[in-house]
Amino acid sequence: MKTGVEETGSKDGKFLPLMEEFYTIQGEGYHSGKPAYFVRIGGCDVGCHWCDVKESWDASLHPLTLVDTIIENAAKYPARAVVVTGGEPAMYNLAYLTSELKKNNIQTFIETSGAYPITGSWDWICLSPKKTISPLKESLEKADELKVIVYNKDDFNWAEKNASMVSKHCRLFLQPEWSRSKEVMPLIVDYVMNNPKWNVSLQSHKYMNIP
Ligand code: SF4
Repeated sequence: MKTGVEETGSKDGKFLPLMEEFYTIQGEGYHSGKPAYFVRIGGCDVGCHWCDVKESWDASLHPLTLVDTIIENAAKYPARAVVVTGGEPAMYNLAYLTSELKKNNIQTFIETSGAYPITGSWDWICLSPKKTISPLKESLEKADELKVIVYNKDDFNWAEKNASMVSKHCRLFLQPEWSRSKEVMPLIVDYVMNNPKWNVSLQSHKYMNIP
């Protein structure tokens, strides 16, 4: 599998392997319901068995794209917010992307597993930790939002372990893994009602039939 900064994105961050970009409404977590331009960067070696974007894993399948073009595209839309997701976008140098977005008065949001150091300047860091490659301590400390995907009941322990390492201001969310929603939703409801520092996150875009 070809992934990694050396093989794909440019070191100066001016090119990134772009999988897709689209204007939609953020469906998950703290900013759920807000319109934003989504930029999905290819490349991920985290390997979650339930991943719903496995086609993102091989970065070499996604064209190296000039970051200036991505910014031009994002700036055409009325919401001044970009969500950078993947794949695992933190595999790349994102300093140029975020500084140029900010020059255009566009807010910067990232969705990351925290497995790699986070570069760039972010208005919001959503960290969704994965068991296959644990998040870095430095990334957990930077998170504004911790979003733990619940596949089975062991994931509540995993959620607490990560929650013990984030900063005090970090918002905590539990989100059912989509294919296991029916089974785990009652467990999440019960857990959140008994542990109110957590909130429920739903993939509301799937109910709205939008990407
Ligand atoms: S980190 Fe995200 S993109 Fe990577 S395998 Fe896990 S769910 Fe898929």
